[in-house]
Amino acid sequence: MADPLQVLKTQFGFDSFRSGQKEVIQALLDGHSAAAIFPTGSGKSLCYQLPALCFDGLTLVVSPLIALMKDQIDTLRAQNIPAARLDSSLEEDERRQVLDDMRAERLKLLYIAPERLGNERFLAQIEGVKIDLLAVDEAHCISSWGHNFRPDYLKIAMAAKDLGIKRVLALTATATPPVIDDMAREFAINKDHIVNTGFYRSNLELRVTACEDTQRDALLLQRLKERDRGPSIVYVTLQKTAERVASFLTHNELPARHYHAGMKAEERSQVQDQFMASDDGIVVATIAFGMGVDKSNIRAVYHYNLAKGFESYMQEIGRAGRDGKRSVCELLVCAADRTILENFTYGDTPDAQSAENLIDELLDGGKELDLSLYDLAKRYDMRNLVVGTLLTRLELKGVIRSLGSYYGQIRFKPLRPSKEILNGLNESRKNFLSVLFSCADKAKIWFTLDTGRAMQKLSVERERIIAAMEWCDQQGHLELQLQGFRSLYRRSDQPVDRDELKNSIVERFLQHEKQDVERIALMLGYAISDTCLTQKLLAYFGEDIEACGHCGICLGEAASIIPPAHQLSCNPDILQAAQQLRLQHPAALGTPRQTARFLCGLSSPATSAARLRGNPLFESCVHIPFGTVMNQVSEYSD
Ligand code: ADP
Ligand code: MG
Repeated sequence: MADPLQVLKTQFGFDSFRSGQKEVIQALLDGHSAAAIFPTGSGKSLCYQLPALCFDGLTLVVSPLIALMKDQIDTLRAQNIPAARLDSSLEEDERRQVLDDMRAERLKLLYIAPERLGNERFLAQIEGVKIDLLAVDEAHCISSWGHNFRPDYLKIAMAAKDLGIKRVLALTATATPPVIDDMAREFAINKDHIVNTGFYRSNLELRVTACEDTQRDALLLQRLKERDRGPSIVYVTLQKTAERVASFLTHNELPARHYHAGMKAEERSQVQDQFMASDDGIVVATIAFGMGVDKSNIRAVYHYNLAKGFESYMQEIGRAGRDGKRSVCELLVCAADRTILENFTYGDTPDAQSAENLIDELLDGGKELDLSLYDLAKRYDMRNLVVGTLLTRLELKGVIRSLGSYYGQIRFKPLRPSKEILNGLNESRKNFLSVLFSCADKAKIWFTLDTGRAMQKLSVERERIIAAMEWCDQQGHLELQLQGFRSLYRRSDQPVDRDELKNSIVERFLQHEKQDVERIALMLGYAISDTCLTQKLLAYFGEDIEACGHCGICLGEAASIIPPAHQLSCNPDILQAAQQLRLQHPAALGTPRQTARFLCGLSSPATSAARLRGNPLFESCVHIPFGTVMNQVSEYSD
């Protein structure tokens, strides 16, 4: 087998491995699954890119960050390494090319988003392809103890087993000990092959300053002006804060821009490009800014608002000082920050009643369930992710079992006359396809296949039909389109205690909420710490260090004291106006929880559908505790 160091030099042009890389790569080359827990920017990707070149088969890379895949793939291609991505943004001919390359074993690395592994079309496409390594980026998402649990990650582990993939590499920059345990268990990684390089960064100077909300702008301005300013990021919680603070700084002659997920893609990339190229730019951003910000000389990361937990904080300050030079990470905190963050958490917990109704619908739905998660989210007014989590919880309890997903509608556009397509095929294929085509109804250009009729006429399963259509698509006979994503589940035979089940599911959501609120409380504990800040932060990640000697506290500053919050209840005018609005929008604002969400600035499927986001009442109570808003709304309507 190839010598890894040699491959590093010849293929990647690097002289030596960085910390941890060699151990991970060796474990994989020896045939083991492994985990790489390194800080962002320290070279995790090389841990699968290099082995990928040593294996005969394909390395499948699962990453939720589609935008980042593009850059990586361009870099790999520039080094003559055959890599590609498969995602919904590809043009038809590009997609076809990627699949051809994959099947012809011309590809070494294929990047996909996690959802794709639950997609029947992709599973049909990849059947028979030899996969030597599955690399899972952001693997901490598999753990419900983590800050970013994504149910589809549990399915990655299942798919790895179903596809018979023997070797997995789990990658993450933020993992606490319980999260590492979950990753290791789900992906069957042996302790000896978990490589954790630690989180300590000696060049980061951590500081905290507590203040009144009204002083914060002036404080930030002072910091930016008094310190030697290199490129700086200012993180805020809300989009509108990003806009307001950036404009305040510009009025004070600082080159600031705002950045958040509500902006158009072009505008966002323009802000990012400008920042990447600048020596003193300032970006005031929500957490949407950062993925892919790989800039070595960021001199300061300010948190204008409290971060929502140590995991996020670590990730956000980790963007500072990648060049190893001294950089400041300062948290400016005031009492209302906590409320806003907690409100976001409460807003994600579904109404107990909606969760119970949804469970009833599933339990009453017969043995085979054929669901559109999108419709359920709309109907029960829960975010898609919350519906997904609920179904996964039922799955983990053994109540239902996922049978995969499919597209309700199979459409195609012929690229050749059917005679030509059938010509030259053997008798049985010719018959099969002509029956299949006879089950399609023509609109103007596109045909819609009646799968039910086709399955009956041909007495075959759906997979055969998809496979045949997929084949036609590959041959360039037609363009295939699958729409109306649906998920299939089967009820298990074991009897269910309905009430107990509902209670436990609702309880689990509340537990999750509690966990997130605790995360915020821990972050607040950091903000008022009177002992070494670096030590406090690292202890959370299971790392035990001496006092750092270079954080605010070690440098002799006193512990921060956060002034108490002022605005603790809703203004009566707002309550009255909200009551009016509720009468007009019973579906979106029917329950006190829905209304409280809306007033606290949390959008939901129903409020989006009713186009209520632009209403002036939206976000009007962000500073008031969610529970208070909900109580006041419900008292007002009684
Ligand atoms: P991560 O995924 O851990 O955030 P990346 O894999 O994106 O980090 O790597 C960050 C940068 O480090 C990339 O530009 C990569 O080319 C570079 N890099 C990785 N390994 C090495 C190495 N051994 N020597 C020098 N540079 C490296
Ligand atoms: Mg990475």
